[in-house]
Amino acid sequence: MIVVMDIGCSREQIDAVVEKLERSGFQAHTIVGVKRIVIGAVGDRGAIPSLGLEGMPGVISVMPIMRPYKLVSKEAAGGGSSLVRVGRVEIGGSRVVLMAGPCAVESKEQMYAAARAVSLAGAGIMRGGAFKPRTSPYSFQGLEEEGLKILAGAAGEYGLATVTEVVDLPSLDLALKYVDMVQIGARNMQNFRLLQAVGRSGRPVLLKRGLSATVEEWLMAAEYIASEGNAGIVLCERGIRTFETSTRNTLDLSAVPLVKSLSHLPVVVDPSHATGTRKLVGPMSLAAVAAGADGLLIEVHPDPQKALCDGPQSLSPEEFEKVAREIRSVAAAVGRAA
Ligand code: PEP
Ligand code: MN
Repeated sequence: MIVVMDIGCSREQIDAVVEKLERSGFQAHTIVGVKRIVIGAVGDRGAIPSLGLEGMPGVISVMPIMRPYKLVSKEAAGGGSSLVRVGRVEIGGSRVVLMAGPCAVESKEQMYAAARAVSLAGAGIMRGGAFKPRTSPYSFQGLEEEGLKILAGAAGEYGLATVTEVVDLPSLDLALKYVDMVQIGARNMQNFRLLQAVGRSGRPVLLKRGLSATVEEWLMAAEYIASEGNAGIVLCERGIRTFETSTRNTLDLSAVPLVKSLSHLPVVVDPSHATGTRKLVGPMSLAAVAAGADGLLIEVHPDPQKALCDGPQSLSPEEFEKVAREIRSVAAAVGRAA
């Protein structure tokens, strides 16, 4: 069950609802969003009518929700969509947000050049991995805290917000000191302890879809974060594993409008990891915006030939500038800005 409370309601009104639920044997999870406050309650559905929650001060509506995910369901937002603020950037509004930067932080020179390029092209958020979950233990693993400092410095210089991947609890603690948004990578989508920890951190989260995760599993992973009280979740479709081997993954673009109909959370697309091929990044970016994506996560490197990680799918600054321009045209065509 979901109890939707007025955004202007008082702490005491929320506490009174939570207390009533808990006294009746429900587990209550309060989540404070930008537009509304929602209390998710898990327990005996049969007991709902006798609780009299509808008449309580601050309560707008009480709804049973059949799906296994509740706080992130579309119903929890009264059929609307939520906004997630990352620094000064808003994801989920009318503007399509561009998040861009290198796969991995490699050096100061590389990150300052990338920050300049992506900000000139119109990106609002800079990416850069400092903890890299590489398929091979012999590949470059990231600069760790030094990388986070470089990311924060370069992005700050150009007024960009930041996102970086965390892979475990120590990397989360470090990332919280330096970045605006933490990313849960595809390989960690079902690392439930990590999801709970980022939930408790309250920091906006970019939750990538797992390599072989169904839409429902992906939304349940988001529910783990929301159930800890964190409303700042952005979902990222980054391709799933199929029998096809000519692209790195298969971009499931149908998931964009589907998930937006099932959940109020913003959805962005990562065409870089989805395709693994530079020349497919532009076309898939445009298709993603046409399909309703709220943003794009694109790998951009000042010199892709020299990238320590994911060079073949990274755009040069010039290529990114061109794609960003085309994205603005498609966004305008579907009634959005970029
Ligand atoms: C990344 O964004 O750098 C990354 C490793 O992506 P994914 O988790 O989608 O593979
Ligand atoms: Mn990468």
